[in-house]
Amino acid sequence: MKIYNTLNRKIEEFQPKNQECVTMYTCGPTVYHFAHIGNLRTYIFEDILEKTLHYLGYNVKRCMNITDVGHLTSDSDSGDDKMLKGAKREHKTVLEIADFYTEAFKKDTEALHIKWPEIVVKATDCIEEYIKIITQLLDTGYAYQSGGNVYFDTSKLEDYYRLTNHKVDDMVIGVRDGVEEDIAKKNQADFVLWFTKSKFEEQELKWNSPWGYGYPGWHIECSGISMKYLGEDLDIHCGGVDNIFPHHTNEIAQSEAYLGHSWCKYWVHGEHLNDETGKMSKSKGEFLTISLLKEKGYDPLAYRFMCLNSHYRKVLVFSYEALEQASSTYQKLKKKVLALKDEGEIEKEPFDECNTLFKEKIGDDLNTAEALTVLYAVLKDDGLKDRTKKELVKSFDTVLSLELLKEEEKRISSDLEKYILGKIEERRLAKENKNYNLADAIRLELEEKGVIIKDTREGTTFEIR
Ligand code: AMP
Ligand code: ZN
Repeated sequence: MKIYNTLNRKIEEFQPKNQECVTMYTCGPTVYHFAHIGNLRTYIFEDILEKTLHYLGYNVKRCMNITDVGHLTSDSDSGDDKMLKGAKREHKTVLEIADFYTEAFKKDTEALHIKWPEIVVKATDCIEEYIKIITQLLDTGYAYQSGGNVYFDTSKLEDYYRLTNHKVDDMVIGVRDGVEEDIAKKNQADFVLWFTKSKFEEQELKWNSPWGYGYPGWHIECSGISMKYLGEDLDIHCGGVDNIFPHHTNEIAQSEAYLGHSWCKYWVHGEHLNDETGKMSKSKGEFLTISLLKEKGYDPLAYRFMCLNSHYRKVLVFSYEALEQASSTYQKLKKKVLALKDEGEIEKEPFDECNTLFKEKIGDDLNTAEALTVLYAVLKDDGLKDRTKKELVKSFDTVLSLELLKEEEKRISSDLEKYILGKIEERRLAKENKNYNLADAIRLELEEKGVIIKDTREGTTFEIR
């Protein structure tokens, strides 16, 4: 497999350090709100990467964190804790918010057929690990205490900016941009490992530490969780491009300072989903979620299909027109697949050839659009028997996860559902008032619209014809 490695800024042949089982770490969600469909684009690309590795014969051990403490509204250690902000917004505790939005995130991943990683760890469950790492960083002089917090000293590293390839001055301006300066830091790029004294007096979750009662910084969480569950030599680390700096830059700094050797071999980043105004983000207020798309009558897998039609390293601009287009192409594709018959034997040679071609495309820096072209070519090929085509689709779909062979369920929009349920209630009341003519008229009105209602012992149900 070939994959673009942000660390070396080029496409490289994938040669994992862990031959028996590839280790893969993906930054998880900060569970203070629903995930927007931009966040989910990143998780779709990571899912494709994991499934491609499986398809190419690798074993994969994947770990993801759930950020439930320490991620501030600015990634450069300033602003409010996002979790606290979420809790205030909804008049709930941080733990209630974390549980609710973790569950909501899980449902979104299910709807998009994103495999839930084998290991999923809450940041608040690994406090001991962070304390262990920070203690050693202080002992070896990579960290210092100042103004009540513990900081990582970036001046101790020669190549702190390695992942970003930016000049130091540019990045320092980047850090300062719109962010108040923290005078406790020795160098502007230094970052917090442990907060003990901060302006967040109301912080709900705090723990005892050798440096006082406090809480971890966001960056140390991913290093700690990754090293605890995937060991000292990580093969792949993923996230969206906004994670490159400062989050992943800081992860490399502290992990390698702690380990004393290089840590992760491949850094793989997905580009953003933008809307007309730029990067989709929650701080802008309104944002699109999977439930909103469902309410509007879209199949979440049509959104997955839309993402797979573009390359993960290219910006994708969302519009309803584009989604509508993707949705109709997706439905047509499914129809073609579902029309395939089961007869005959699988033709081994062509099957292997097409499979090899698909592997080549998906293994070429995850070229999902080209992989879909292989799928279309298979469906179009008059020389192939339906049975072979069907088996190929089944095989490709273990990576694409578009449920191409699943019979269509009739989906209805929530507006239509509300309308039907309203009519059923109207009919129930009419019957209760012995107005059977009206009750029949309602039933007929629904029938004309293709809605068949059935009275059962549990109540009235309906079916769309
Ligand atoms: P967060 O929940 O904010 O920690 O972000 C979760 C993931 O979504 C991270 O990997 C981010 O890099 C990614 N992300 C954030 N905004 C976007 C976007 N507009 N498009 C794609 N990925 C995004
Ligand atoms: Zn992370």
